[in-house]
Amino acid sequence: MHIKRLILIGIWCSMTLATSCKKTTETAEAEEKTGYQGQGKSPVVPTVDRPVQKQWRGVWALNDSTVYFSNQFDGARLNGVAYDGNDHYTIWVTAENTPINVSPWYAFQVWSKEPRDITVQLSYQDSRSRYYPKISTDGRNFTPLDSTQFKAINPGEGEFGIQAAPESAEITLSINEKPTWISAQELYTSSVVQEWVDSLGQKPFVQHYPIGLSKEKRTMHLIEINENTETQKALMIISRQHPPEVTGFLAMKSFIETIAGDSDLAQAFRKEHTIFVVPLMNPDGADNGHWRHNMGGIDLNRDWQNFNQPETRNVRDFLVEKDKTYDFVFGADFHSTWDDIYYPIDTTVTGKKGKIIFDWIANISKRLPQKKTNISASDELDPTMVSSKYFYVNHGMPAIVFELGDNTSRPFLKEKGKVAAEEIMKLLMEQ
Ligand SMILES: [Zn+2]
Repeated sequence: MHIKRLILIGIWCSMTLATSCKKTTETAEAEEKTGYQGQGKSPVVPTVDRPVQKQWRGVWALNDSTVYFSNQFDGARLNGVAYDGNDHYTIWVTAENTPINVSPWYAFQVWSKEPRDITVQLSYQDSRSRYYPKISTDGRNFTPLDSTQFKAINPGEGEFGIQAAPESAEITLSINEKPTWISAQELYTSSVVQEWVDSLGQKPFVQHYPIGLSKEKRTMHLIEINENTETQKALMIISRQHPPEVTGFLAMKSFIETIAGDSDLAQAFRKEHTIFVVPLMNPDGADNGHWRHNMGGIDLNRDWQNFNQPETRNVRDFLVEKDKTYDFVFGADFHSTWDDIYYPIDTTVTGKKGKIIFDWIANISKRLPQKKTNISASDELDPTMVSSKYFYVNHGMPAIVFELGDNTSRPFLKEKGKVAAEEIMKLLMEQ
């Protein structure tokens, strides 16, 4: 075990040395007490391939082979485990490469020959403890760990951003021979997402089909909701460019289920609109437990200008083809961050056409008031780099980056996705 521990530390150090141990909060979060102000302007970054460190996958046998840790399942990232004595363990979680946003995605299984109580310290490469642990006995149904089992170490300061997160965390677990899953967020891997796509595809007006392969040759799937014959208005919806951003995915899922639902509004809407959805933009990242990047080591949401990565190219090629016959009237890209926030494009650059986005946000906020409606509009269209700008500039659709908080309650996410769908359907039908 000592040998493995040393090797893992060695890997970690070589990675951090290679990047001069650079702090990775390159998107400085502005903040104030009244609400989350969002990130600043995105710097232009190259999107040609960069090396990615795939994790070693296997089982760690510790404490005289009485306690086991494993990362042998999709969605995990666990890069090292050490036994510190007295039923205390330390795990390391490292990023696929650096610099990277601080989204330390961890997931592991732990079990023991005999029932016992253990303490596990979570520690991260160049990050703090952003994600509150979720626990599961089947790898599917996760609940937040009981607060009595969680101890923040060196609590952070302020209300938002990585500096507000504790430096690390200790969790106590009662384990036995049946594996317990611990994960940063619920595990919506490519196979779990595909089950949802397949179930939606049971509806007669829902089709799904491949639109290309990811870097690691996973199939990217697109859902098409289409039961109209004459009109050619279309919506483009995407999510999970960033693997740990599960709350954005959950809101998107509810948004799409509402549009595909049985309400009079949804039925009328579908007679006039076709909806295209790419629910999992980064399947390699999701299955490998990446903090942010694809298997090309790139933040996909910086590649909508140069299209160096297959995932963005697949969607670009799809849109270019569909734009020949469809009029795109709305686009949304679902993400997660420190709090719920909208990133629209300012009407100073989109004019009357872009106003629908702001009317929509106002209508959602009226029905679902939150402590504060966080909006951070951008007035720059060039370079496109991010999906929403590409959608607007190249395909003329009013578009938004729709962000949900990491810790936004799951029932609220569902409700917000539903309300957002209802309000955009109403506005588009008034047009
Ligand atoms: Zn994101």
